[in-house]
Amino acid sequence: MKMCISCGMPMTSISDYPLQDISKNYCKYCAHADGTMKTFHEKLTILSIHYANHHNIEYEIAKDIAYRVLRKLPAWRGR
Ligand SMILES: [Zn+2]
Repeated sequence: MKMCISCGMPMTSISDYPLQDISKNYCKYCAHADGTMKTFHEKLTILSIHYANHHNIEYEIAKDIAYRVLRKLPAWRGR
């Protein structure tokens, strides 16, 4: 089983892959409609908004948390 290099989600079924392409190392949530991977900045923005909304915290704080989470993932290591 593969894990998405961009967000860490386990990819357990073919439907988790972008365009159902299992040669990809990232999930459909981390891909654009054409199957290419979203950028670090795009993921950071999406995740920050998600944290801010779900944990009811300020956007700047959410962004700081999102940044730390993303940096641990293989696609973004060393950012
Ligand atoms: Zn992903």
